[in-house]
Amino acid sequence: MPIFEYECARCGLVSSHVVMGSSRRRERLGCPQCKSARLRRVMSSFAVVESEQSRLASFDASKPRDDSYYRDSRNVGLWAKKRAKEMGVDLGPKFEATVEKARSGKLIKEMT
Ligand SMILES: [Zn+2]
Repeated sequence: MPIFEYECARCGLVSSHVVMGSSRRRERLGCPQCKSARLRRVMSSFAVVESEQSRLASFDASKPRDDSYYRDSRNVGLWAKKRAKEMGVDLGPKFEATVEKARSGKLIKEMT
């Protein structure tokens, strides 16, 4: 289920919304704090983790992963960490913590 984060144009509150298919529903999204409908989509923390992975993935184009691999939260950061280890790159404890949060879904909760 796609979860997007929106920033309220009036009060600046960032909230997460599950967005189902139709654009009609999307227009009905509102700020949970001030009820304003002027919400601006923001880049979620998950997207940051995924782009990190795709950048690392570009180092080895001979081993592509299909989308379903990345949809499984248990695989978040796994391959990136493996590749980093092979290349002798230390991603550091911050990356480790980000991966752990992404896997358990805490990342979105902290943003709200
Ligand atoms: Zn608001």
